[in-house]
Amino acid sequence: MKRTLTGKAEKRLNSFYLLICTLPLLWLSGCKPQARDRSLPPALRPELLQKFESIKDLGLRQEKAYEFLKQITSIGGRLTGSPEADRAVELTASLMAEQGFDRVWTEPVKVQRWVRGQAEEAMVRSSKLGTQALSICALGNSLGTPVNGVEAGVVEVRSFEELSALKDIVPGRIVFYNVPMDRTVVEPFAAYGRAAQFRVRGASEAARYGARAVLIRSMTFRVDQNPHTGLMEYDDRAPRIPAAAVSTAGAELLHHWLQTDPELKVWLRTNCRQEEPVTSANVIGQLTGSEFPDEIILIGGHLDSWDLGPGAHDDAAGCAVAIEVLRLIKETGLKPKRTIRAVMFMDEEFGGTGGRAYAASDHRKQEKHLVAIEQDRGGAAPVGLAFSLESLADRLKPLLAYLGPLGINWIRTGGGGVDIAPLREKGTILGGLIPESQRYFDYHHSALDVPEAVHPRELELQAVILAMVIYFLAEQGV
Ligand SMILES: [Zn+2]
Repeated sequence: MKRTLTGKAEKRLNSFYLLICTLPLLWLSGCKPQARDRSLPPALRPELLQKFESIKDLGLRQEKAYEFLKQITSIGGRLTGSPEADRAVELTASLMAEQGFDRVWTEPVKVQRWVRGQAEEAMVRSSKLGTQALSICALGNSLGTPVNGVEAGVVEVRSFEELSALKDIVPGRIVFYNVPMDRTVVEPFAAYGRAAQFRVRGASEAARYGARAVLIRSMTFRVDQNPHTGLMEYDDRAPRIPAAAVSTAGAELLHHWLQTDPELKVWLRTNCRQEEPVTSANVIGQLTGSEFPDEIILIGGHLDSWDLGPGAHDDAAGCAVAIEVLRLIKETGLKPKRTIRAVMFMDEEFGGTGGRAYAASDHRKQEKHLVAIEQDRGGAAPVGLAFSLESLADRLKPLLAYLGPLGINWIRTGGGGVDIAPLREKGTILGGLIPESQRYFDYHHSALDVPEAVHPRELELQAVILAMVIYFLAEQGV
């Protein structure tokens, strides 16, 4: 039947269905539908619905978010302080200027520069089992091994308690943290959070007992040959030793060989180092509010990435969505009352200097950030929305009537991100769109985080939904 409808008639029918969907909500909230719908809550007014439909139609027809993502990832990995990160600053500034946003500018950020270097190799050598290469990568912030590498026996542990119990055999050896992400934890970010402590703190904990280096099992549910990098930190009270991630397949191999030959040795060579800090930048574009230009709704992602792949999910996706949100609002002819601002933060991965510099900048003195949203959970299909203020989450719930068919199952308390966290103490409400995340750690911080791992339609749905929510907030305030 739909085939016989014209585009306009189909739209009218869609509007009708959506209105029908909202009727039970109105009834539940004790709000009677009126002939003149001015008395309806703003979230339910048909004129807003029409705007939402325009945003949705434009977004899903054009899928521009993915085009932006492809351009950003075409630069390759964008390690903080690298020439590639500089290119990403220039590219996203010109991308936003090309969209005709009201203002586009950069703000300087002083960042550290860690360099991976060329040589990253590891071998497991056993008099009983032979020799096998291990797929490894240095962890961000780590120092490198001596030029000829480190060769030592291995102590395998699955917890810091086990490390402590084995401390007498640690001196002179490589500590191997073989701690898989817990498969029984349904929420992958929770499983990641528990396993990541060994990557972050493992080197200093092992160095305290005299270890020469550490190998950390990569944080992914998959078993494959791709090492996953990430940030590690040194505790000043312990000696500094090299830290590397080993692929999950490599970790399994090493574990099994250690059962047969506990005396085997691992040889490891990395060539990473710290260089002098450099000046980089946050990149900012905005649609200036027509009535309250100093009141801001922010949507951001981080422009830097790890360097083993082009950082498509993490976090070209967040940057692309932020640009697309503004583009969708502008192209549908909407003129928000408050300013809608896209920020590509620099240096999330090495500790969030861009986010702190943004919040502390003199430019912020005249501005009031009502809501800040950061997209840094990958580019997969949306499942929910979270805001740090419960009353705002509640106020947005009527929008579920529109957003449900687009994939949003819930709106609840939560949300935030490394780069927007410093705005919280200024009274800003933090938030974010939560995408499906079961596969996110397959790609995260590895060579697999490529544009092909992101689906254009799923990414666009993120932008479409956020454009609706952000436009609504820019009109209504908080
Ligand atoms: Zn990220």
